[in-house]
Amino acid sequence: MRLPPDLRGIRLLHDPRYNKGTAFTEAERDELGLRGLLPPRVLSLADQQRRILANFRAKPSMLEQYVFLISLQDRNETLFYRTLIDHVAEMMPVVYTPTVGEACKAFGHIFRRPRGLYISASDRTRVREVLGNWPERNVKIIVVTDGERILGLGDLGAYGMGIPIGKLALYTACSGVDPAGCLPVLIDVGTDNESLLADPLYTGLVQHRIRGPEYYALVDEFVEAVQVEFPGAIIQFEDFATDNAFGLLDRYRDRVACFNDDIQGTAAVTLAGLVAAGRVTGLRLEEQRFLFFGAGSAATGIANLVVAAMVRNGVSAEAARARCWFVDTKGLVTAGRSDLAPHKRPYAHAHAPAGNLLAAIETLRPTALLGLSAQPRTFSEPVLRAMAAVNLRPIVLALSNPTSKAECTAEEAYRWTDGRAVFASGSPFPPVELDGRRFVPGQGNNVYVFPGIGLGAIAAGARRVTTAMFLAAADSLGTFVGPDLLEQGTLYPPLEAIREVSARIAEAVLRVVEAEGLAGAPIAADPAVMVRSHMYDPVYSSYLT
Ligand code: NAD
Repeated sequence: MRLPPDLRGIRLLHDPRYNKGTAFTEAERDELGLRGLLPPRVLSLADQQRRILANFRAKPSMLEQYVFLISLQDRNETLFYRTLIDHVAEMMPVVYTPTVGEACKAFGHIFRRPRGLYISASDRTRVREVLGNWPERNVKIIVVTDGERILGLGDLGAYGMGIPIGKLALYTACSGVDPAGCLPVLIDVGTDNESLLADPLYTGLVQHRIRGPEYYALVDEFVEAVQVEFPGAIIQFEDFATDNAFGLLDRYRDRVACFNDDIQGTAAVTLAGLVAAGRVTGLRLEEQRFLFFGAGSAATGIANLVVAAMVRNGVSAEAARARCWFVDTKGLVTAGRSDLAPHKRPYAHAHAPAGNLLAAIETLRPTALLGLSAQPRTFSEPVLRAMAAVNLRPIVLALSNPTSKAECTAEEAYRWTDGRAVFASGSPFPPVELDGRRFVPGQGNNVYVFPGIGLGAIAAGARRVTTAMFLAAADSLGTFVGPDLLEQGTLYPPLEAIREVSARIAEAVLRVVEAEGLAGAPIAADPAVMVRSHMYDPVYSSYLT
């Protein structure tokens, strides 16, 4: 990394991208006007990491650990990312779910320094000007939310900014996207959360949400302004409420390079988990019957990709859809219902009504039960016992986040199926000891997929992000789950492998981009080399001239 020519002295210490803190060498301290501005002893990156870890572990709560890490990110990016990469399994639950949810709820109260870009309803007609204020011109990836459905926590308005910030930190940590190319955006159209509106420290617009044409006009303006200010940047939509999530994806997916992680990223991660689970149960995808609890963006996104995977395996789309069933707040989604949103209709099959989840399990006898309802503890003992009664090895995925929203705990899933469940969850659960056996539940975390998708799309200069790229990502992720992991009940690779997982997904994406004729950059003969050349590795470089 080269130092900008005029950056020296105290300004250098206050610039998180270039600051090395106590690791500036004696010669650098002399040349860059730093002598006296730092305590005398020169420490290495490894020494600094030791101090950071000790302080991190001494914090009394995960929220305080979050605040500590964010302030490190504000001070010294290299040290922040090096530590995050080297301790990813320990720090991921702090930087992202579940702690990021707590951080968003308290965002106005833990606010230290602004980070990311806010585009508010009052910026209509001058969004381009707002994007022009962002200090970096070489933006490669934008994560954007309007804060309406933050994890399973609902409408957090402008406090939702914690999500794009967290996701982009994971982009850098997990797939090596250069932090300089990452732009977190919060589109503030107001909030319908009354307690936030009444909170004197709330940081967003104090008004109810704008909706309909006015809302779409603002997002249109944003997407168009991105094409001008940051041409080629990938836009990742994140944590929008269901209708807008589908509406925005349908509106832009064929026009610009974008995707919705809740719909498509979740789908790829879950598909990989279902295929891995099928290796345990002995059932191929097209032999399974899937029951989704919750019929929102994540659940229907998964079903759509599962259907695409079955179609690729030679099954008709109709037969594939017939294997996917949904239960929502009104019970089983059936053809006879007149209250269904468009995204549910393809899965409304002819069937007698079933009023609740238990009744649906008993009548449909699903091989896999997937929870995406954000309704905690709804996979009750009777529900899990019913799954165990109709399957030798029931597949149970409790995917709602954060942990407080999970449909069941790992322990409950194993206990109430007599240790037969093939289980994974959205938020992490510790290993479970049951009747002398040890189970290590995997986490169906989107982080296994979106950083690799983004990295591949960036490297290829992809003009669109397509379903084939998510199928390729799911295939690639599946190759990391060997018999040893399946043996202990784990459907996903350890988080420690995440950079390699992301690099391989990016390679797979690169090949799809090329095959689909969507590359905006020349694709090298060796995708592995090309992908790795795009990966940022946080180490200190010498600033001596
Ligand atoms: P959403 O709001 O679009 O969908 C929630 C769905 O649950 C809706 O269809 C709603 O009708 C249904 N629902 C609510 N209460 C219900 C009840 N009592 N009975 C039956 N159905 C009920 O939200 P989403 O984006 O689909 O996300 C849902 C959950 O999945 C969230 O907790 C989110 O954090 C989680 N999620 C996890 C992952 C992951 O683990 N990889 C990824 C994305 C989303």
